Amino acid sequence: MPEDLLNSFMSGPDEKGRFGNYGGRFVSETLMPLILRLEAEYERAKTDQRFWDEMHDLWTHYVGRPSPLYHAARLTDRLGGAKIYMKRDELNHTGAHKINNVLGQILLARRMGKERIIAETGAGQHGVATATVCAKFGLKCVVYMGAHDVERQAPNVFRMRLLGAEVVPVTSGRGTLKDAMNDALRDWVTNIRDTFYCIGTVAGPHPYPAMVRDFQSIIGKEVREQMQAAEGRLPDTLIAAIGGGSNAMGLFHPFLDDKDVRIIGVEAGGKGVDDRMEHCASLTGGRPGVLHGNRTYLLQDDDGQILEGFSISAGLDYPGIGPEHAWLKDVGRAEYVSITDREALDAFQLCCEMEGIIPALEPSHALAHVMKIAPDLPSDHLICMNMCGRGDKDIFTVAKALGVEIG
Ligand SMILES: *Cc1c(COP(=O)(O)O)cnc(C)c1O
Repeated sequence: MPEDLLNSFMSGPDEKGRFGNYGGRFVSETLMPLILRLEAEYERAKTDQRFWDEMHDLWTHYVGRPSPLYHAARLTDRLGGAKIYMKRDELNHTGAHKINNVLGQILLARRMGKERIIAETGAGQHGVATATVCAKFGLKCVVYMGAHDVERQAPNVFRMRLLGAEVVPVTSGRGTLKDAMNDALRDWVTNIRDTFYCIGTVAGPHPYPAMVRDFQSIIGKEVREQMQAAEGRLPDTLIAAIGGGSNAMGLFHPFLDDKDVRIIGVEAGGKGVDDRMEHCASLTGGRPGVLHGNRTYLLQDDDGQILEGFSISAGLDYPGIGPEHAWLKDVGRAEYVSITDREALDAFQLCCEMEGIIPALEPSHALAHVMKIAPDLPSDHLICMNMCGRGDKDIFTVAKALGVEIG
């Protein structure tokens, strides 16, 4: 890897929000002033100790950070190779990593005097986290959700409504996450004065990919300290599941300059990465294009129409991927692999049985890749995977896949 590319990692993106050929701000002129104001406010907050003090106070007392770094001893024994650690972000309030980022953006919205928060959501996890923090601060919350997802994710829709949010079913396009994000962007340009758009992953126009990454980086920063305390050194391999890529970027980013740390992102392989496109592996099975204000790898047909993709895990079926991952793939700093539904289900079950942890289906993909590589690695090789969500939300999907009736 060329030295100047390597040196740019910790300082990236550039002033136009580009990670190499990816990222940027492909937005309408009407959106530009909003995005520039947000960027300016974030740049100020970033170096303001009071902002980070407030974040850490909420992370500690509201979210429950730091999340533990846990040695999965029985799983390590069973696989018979590398020593396996899990970063337990499923123990966060609301059950996943999403709230790390939502808190940051909502503190920013409060600094900007915005009283109406909008968000997009697919499976509903980001919508629930946003509705939660809005309730805590007494802010109006509107969540755009594909009509198809509203039907599939009834419990999360009800949670958001209990928390006082308005859930808007989106019927444009195919009524899924991609369309929900388009409608949220449309809402933003028509409600310029009082509205803040809280994006749920490392996607969207600059500064979102870098800002969301910075908020999620608490995951990797804690892992550095916790692994030093447990083993006296850094981990050898990091593994995380990728939908849009925010939990993975949060784990990876603090380690990008540590060239000996191997970094692996795991995409949803669905029924297998082939021409039928029944997967969500944007990097392994997609091509570069522009979506939601940035240039990145996308699932698309020959005419550049965005494809929906497929995965057993609703949280992984975003047709794009954060632009920083596209860049890390191209320069070779991170590797990207895919795991099928079947492999993820096997990992899900093994984790329940061996560790007493019911994982979400998303991190089950990361765990499945751990299961693939750990047996061939020496016992002093340290793997850290991100357990980015808990599996309560997935038990109906898993029961169905296993052919079990549960009410
Ligand atoms: C939303 C979600 C994901 C996918 O989002 P990323 O931005 O890729 O992290 C993965 N796991 C869980 C548990 C989620 O809720």
